[in-house]
Amino acid sequence: MSTQTHPVYIIGAGPGDPDLLTVKAARVLGEAEVVVYDRLVSDAILDLVPTGASRIFAGKAARDHFMPQDEINALLVSMANSGRRTVRLKGGDPFIFGRGSEEAVHLAQNGITFEIVPGITASAGCGAYAGIPLTHRGLATGVRFVTGHCRDGQHLDLNWKSLADPDTTLVIYMGLINVQKIADELIAAGLPATTPAAGIERGTTDAQRTVTTTLAELPACVERANLVAPSLLIIGRVVAMAGELSWFANLENCDDRESHG
Ligand code: SAH
Repeated sequence: MSTQTHPVYIIGAGPGDPDLLTVKAARVLGEAEVVVYDRLVSDAILDLVPTGASRIFAGKAARDHFMPQDEINALLVSMANSGRRTVRLKGGDPFIFGRGSEEAVHLAQNGITFEIVPGITASAGCGAYAGIPLTHRGLATGVRFVTGHCRDGQHLDLNWKSLADPDTTLVIYMGLINVQKIADELIAAGLPATTPAAGIERGTTDAQRTVTTTLAELPACVERANLVAPSLLIIGRVVAMAGELSWFANLENCDDRESHG
């Protein structure tokens, strides 16, 4: 029997800039008594948690899971049943590669009510702040979000033929480790090696870095620039617009870097 008095709020915190929180996220966060948060949630956003509230780090990164998912799920149920206002705070949007849906399923199966508060996903945040529109008339008729990382080190096995579409922007989350394979497979599947490509590290934060190059050069570029997680890869003709539309931080062009030593 559930003894909860408040729904569990599964909140998307956006990609980093606290100004990108939704009004609802900021309000609910300000009333929280327990906040279970991921590694991707920025300090500036955690500053909005009331001082008296408990903060529980459920640190999650692509390769190391500090708190196993089962434990997080169980924790959310027990916090909800304790009657405290419980917030599950996740980077970006909870329903895009965030396991928010797995947590919601677990809550539903345990009779716990919840609300999902959408957040700005890394694609939208990084695209906007790097000046890369994910769609643009004449350049991209659609966009696909894919993961570049597989569960438990399994082989990355995406449908490369379907992804190698020059009319669609491809956004790859968690793609740094497999960037060489991603570029090789897309080119082998027919995407032109000259397709513009970008890597964006810590988008929307003061530490944002964006490198632009071509698909063929992306792996070398990412390595030269030493991009680290969290970074997003964007591949498609729209990337070429960053030169004109980048407004937030400087672009680094890998090819320039190379030719200028
Ligand atoms: N739910 C999140 C994604 C979680 S998966 C969302 O909707 O954005 C984690 C991956 O998201 C990272 O490996 C990276 O690829 C991407 N990511 C998240 N925040 C980012 C940021 N500020 N800049 C660049 N990439 C980011």
